[in-house]
Amino acid sequence: MLLDPYRRKINYLRISVTDRCNLRCCYCMPEEGIPLISHEEILTYEEILRIVRVFATEGISKVRLTGGEPLVRKGIVDFIHSLSQIKEIKDLSLTTNGILLRELARDLKQAGLRRINISLDSLRKERFCQITRRDDFERVWKGIEEALSVGLSPIKLNMVAIQGLNDDEIESFARLTLRLPLSVRYIEYMPSGNGEEWKKSDLLTIPQIKSRLEKVGKLISIPSDQWDGPAKRFRIEGAIGEIGLIGPVSSHFCDDCNRLRLTPDGKIRTCLFSDEEIDVKELLRKGGSDRDLKERLLVALRAKPERHPINTHQFKKCQRNMSAIGG
Ligand code: SAM
Repeated sequence: MLLDPYRRKINYLRISVTDRCNLRCCYCMPEEGIPLISHEEILTYEEILRIVRVFATEGISKVRLTGGEPLVRKGIVDFIHSLSQIKEIKDLSLTTNGILLRELARDLKQAGLRRINISLDSLRKERFCQITRRDDFERVWKGIEEALSVGLSPIKLNMVAIQGLNDDEIESFARLTLRLPLSVRYIEYMPSGNGEEWKKSDLLTIPQIKSRLEKVGKLISIPSDQWDGPAKRFRIEGAIGEIGLIGPVSSHFCDDCNRLRLTPDGKIRTCLFSDEEIDVKELLRKGGSDRDLKERLLVALRAKPERHPINTHQFKKCQRNMSAIGG
């Protein structure tokens, strides 16, 4: 079992397989994109598999693939199949913007993926286009339908709620759970990514979101299970789907943090908001042993901060863009 210095059990590795993305969400990336990591610097699938196999023997049992947009990386389905064969990995999931899901959902399911998170910040075509700078709302919606129809479950729909941008859709997202078996999750807007633009006044806190949801129906609390991480779960009375509330900015989010991150270029990050990075790629490429890899994992574990600094005066935006860390 991996315990950090604050006695949190770390069992979750979030892996960013690419910094490339097929959207340009206004709060995440500038319109022209960001300088990309060169292909040689990006970990090969074989390298990632080796890292996961070694870390799994130490206590990592949950893996989520993210990016950038993970589905744009060639060979992702076969890679997921290989990950699904690692017996210590009990929970394998993926976060996507859904654009390529209609084409890939069935293959992903067959490759061993059980569940999926889909990021969607608006249910309105024009607003989707304004936020993402791409006219792909219908593709994403068809992707969600396909994910439902092939039986990926649960399907979590993640909405970043931003004051004045999409806050008037909080209730519409919640109403989806009345008729569809989706878990709609509201995430506070964080000062990261293209976050020069982040202003405290854009933030819609979880308590504010919750009070809006209470107008849709009675919220019934659902006990968390071991894979939930920091989300607080609810169901609107009579709904078939669920609500999840994730408050990295306003709540004691870090107490339940169980994760490390692996960047596309092979650095372990101990926290989304810390620039501390522990290099594993260099070790792998210089012929490091499994034992050396385990040692690096322990270095990362020991370096994990007790909490992120967002609400402190020491806070400064992290050096890497969200797309190059893995959101
Ligand atoms: N492309 C994939 C996707 O769309 O889910 C994975 C990467 S994306 C960076 C992961 C998630 O990070 C998305 O749900 C996105 O909305 C979220 N995100 C990006 N910048 C954020 C910010 N400043 N605050 C909160 N969430 C953010």
